[in-house]
Amino acid sequence: SHVETFDYVVFGATGDLTMRKLLPALYHRFRDGQIPADSRIIGTARSKLSHDEFRERAEKALGRFVKGDALDAETARRFLGMVFYASVNGAEADSTWPNLLELFGDDRQDKIRVFYLATSPGLYGAICQNLSDKGLVTDRSRVVLEKPIGHDLASARKVNDDVGKVFPENRVFRIDHYLGKETVQNLIALRFANPVFERLWSADAIDHVQITAAETVGVEGRGDYYDHSGALRDMIQNHLLQVMCLVAMEPPGTLGADDVRNEKLKVLRALKPIRPADVDHVAVRGQYGRGRTGDGIVPAYLEELGEGRQSNTETYVALRAEVHTWRWGKVPFFLRSGKRLPAKVSEVVIQFRETPWSIFPSQLQANRLILRLQPEEGIQLSIMNKDPAMDSMALRPANIDVAFEKAFSTRYPDAYERLLMDTVRGDPVLFMRRDEVEAAWTWVEPILDSWRERPDTLRHYSAGTWGPDQARHLLGSNRQWHEDM
Ligand code: NAP
Repeated sequence: SHVETFDYVVFGATGDLTMRKLLPALYHRFRDGQIPADSRIIGTARSKLSHDEFRERAEKALGRFVKGDALDAETARRFLGMVFYASVNGAEADSTWPNLLELFGDDRQDKIRVFYLATSPGLYGAICQNLSDKGLVTDRSRVVLEKPIGHDLASARKVNDDVGKVFPENRVFRIDHYLGKETVQNLIALRFANPVFERLWSADAIDHVQITAAETVGVEGRGDYYDHSGALRDMIQNHLLQVMCLVAMEPPGTLGADDVRNEKLKVLRALKPIRPADVDHVAVRGQYGRGRTGDGIVPAYLEELGEGRQSNTETYVALRAEVHTWRWGKVPFFLRSGKRLPAKVSEVVIQFRETPWSIFPSQLQANRLILRLQPEEGIQLSIMNKDPAMDSMALRPANIDVAFEKAFSTRYPDAYERLLMDTVRGDPVLFMRRDEVEAAWTWVEPILDSWRERPDTLRHYSAGTWGPDQARHLLGSNRQWHEDM
């Protein structure tokens, strides 16, 4: 769809996120003809670089991170023509700001302006204040905040308060890149455009739900960042709870940003609160030790952190949540995420209830709907079938299987492509509203508090396995994690 001319100012433009995600995403949208030619992408960071030096870095990044045959030299050259750089210390009200200000003459005042903060979140408040003090914030300006928004409720409120002094809530875009994934948005289509599912979407038919985000990698070079965060903050508080909201919410009145986000907020507020005494019953945390994976023997988390380091940071979390509403009653939602697991997969499993009674000699497997978010995006519904090799009514499970790549034969855009253009269009539906972020922190905080006080609750698991044994017990008898992928 058509977008107006814009200026996209990225703070932290020499960093990993800008190079790996933001510039490639903007390039793709430029190539698709969605970016008007007189728009500009302005990188800023403290490093002293000329426009051309920054363009060289950007060009290298495109070479590395634009996949397939999407990169061609001529398109890249025209794209880099709209890229600029200003050396600014965003956190200080110092003499570097004119470098940015000089790029904004009177003729750009009425253009859409996006300030994308891809620096450490500790700088967000100061950067916003400086933007305002230097007169850069116009009526058509928006701000985009990367995760994490705080490391607990109090610090999240502080960030939101500070940013809120400069930008009204409807111009604050808090990125959760999971919401930009096609398959995550497809949850809304699946549920509300296909009555065959929605009619069964409740405690009447559903036994439980599993939401998994599993990674095979360890912390790689990002150990210092990760060690202050851990899997609960890094994955569950934001991405998995957001996916859970889309699975559990009531149909919104419209697809408008506030209608959808109001429904998501209701889910977060309906979560059964966790009392300190409950934590051990609803939450399991683990940290990987050395183990064997597809790549051979890999080091333990502590070894990756460095010689002699101690840490209670969890690299694995499994949780049991309940959404206390009429629709869901006591249906458990099991959420888990971890590093160094046997497969890289994000998925939602809807486990239906068993038949009330069986007239067949075979063991029946209850229907299961798997929404595969990545990779191999698609939908699978397991059903029981008569085994054609047998005369008796012996049954076997089989799958109704939709692989999106085959069904739609199209490229799956990276989540950032859609999200960046939404910030230009000014559509916040796929971004987290302040109250959602704070409700999510409110819910996880008792777990964080308990874990801080009780280091002995940290379990260990070998790299290349599905996490600590205790995660199995969390499901109770008769239930199993979906792990045969
Ligand atoms: P990074 O590689 O460490 O980059 C940080 C950037 O900030 C650099 O460009 C740095 O450049 C700049 N910077 C630091 N202090 C500054 C200041 N005072 N004023 C202006 N610029 C300053 O970090 P990153 O991995 O790109 O992550 C950036 C943000 O995105 C963080 O909030 C992170 O949590 C979030 N995030 C990252 C990823 C990812 O995959 N990398 C994913 C999700 C969220 P100079 O040193 O030249 O100033």
